[in-house]
Amino acid sequence: MNPSQAAPGSQASLREANRQRVLEALRDQGAMTQIEIAGFTGLSPATVSNMVKELDSAGAVELEPSIRNGRRATLVSLAVGNTLVAGIAFGDRDVRVALGTGPRDIIGRQRMPLPADHAADEGMDRATRLLLDLVEKVGKTMADVRAVGVGIPAPVDSVSGQVGSEGILPGWRGVAVADEMQGRLQAQVMVDNTANFAALGELRCGALQGVQHGVYLKLSHGVGAGLILNGELFRGAAGTAGEIGHLTIDENGPVCRCGNRGCLETYIGARGLLDALAASHGPLSLRDVIYRALDGDAGCRRVLEDAGRHLGVAVAGLVNLVNPEVIVLGGQLARVGSIITRPMRASLERCAIPSAAASVVVRTGELDTDADVVGALAAAVAMLPTSEAGLVTTGSIS
Ligand SMILES: [Zn+2]
Repeated sequence: MNPSQAAPGSQASLREANRQRVLEALRDQGAMTQIEIAGFTGLSPATVSNMVKELDSAGAVELEPSIRNGRRATLVSLAVGNTLVAGIAFGDRDVRVALGTGPRDIIGRQRMPLPADHAADEGMDRATRLLLDLVEKVGKTMADVRAVGVGIPAPVDSVSGQVGSEGILPGWRGVAVADEMQGRLQAQVMVDNTANFAALGELRCGALQGVQHGVYLKLSHGVGAGLILNGELFRGAAGTAGEIGHLTIDENGPVCRCGNRGCLETYIGARGLLDALAASHGPLSLRDVIYRALDGDAGCRRVLEDAGRHLGVAVAGLVNLVNPEVIVLGGQLARVGSIITRPMRASLERCAIPSAAASVVVRTGELDTDADVVGALAAAVAMLPTSEAGLVTTGSIS
């Protein structure tokens, strides 16, 4: 962003700061009415109205008639032209892609299953084909796609750019995913852990909006967390903050795929849950367990309640360290709702500092299993030079 050359504190610098607030609000939130922009930025409706007029005459925003709450209104959005971004989210069993002009403005999405033990090359090839196919479907070319966020369900070392753990995603160990995907897609690529992207998705468009200090817990085949501190995603020194699945719950517990013993994931990851039910229920998938539990199956409910209890112990540690306002549960397992959240809350209250536990709100996510791909789109938008994301540089409007 090109800072104003106007003297600090002057009328012109104030106007420039307001203009940036409006543009950034539109970039983060997508299309809004002027009243909504005023509510979101804290600027007065008159200031917003003047600003939108200026931005419109400079071609930085587009205005579209619409109806809000039964009344005629004008929707203001960033002028994006042909600039598209894409999000790719690898799961343990699938890959999902989405294409849009921002996290709230998705114009197409696709999903493809992936074998559990696939090699990185195969996964990246399939994701590339899926995205190319989607781009073609919406009548665009890859030249229109300026940035791509790629989420991997494993720690990604932001210093080396490589998938950073031996056991967590074996077929991907040591692969420099950003370089590989950049070569395949011919677009800028940013790689991050899917729990981080999911936290970012809920922060921008879901259950963590407006939250300063929050935790997103991704409960799926594995377990991960994304931390929001001071209203921003916190990645840590090398991008691996939030690896809650490999927090030790019992140092004499079962051996985990990461090589440690008694990690949280050995108790609440899919393998632990399915093993616990194998003798009584035979082979089940994680989805079977979720549906049966919701249907009242006592055994399935019991293992999920136990999982909630273990989760609460780990989360209590996190609550003591971070003191979050909100904990959001996402991923497939969050669909069982109170079967997990009730025992989790009970453990949390037993193990955490009472004042920290009492003040934290636990809720399920609003974006379901799409939170990660929405966050990948948000990360892709953040990579664009500001002029391409509609944030025209100063000077075009005096
Ligand atoms: Zn582990």
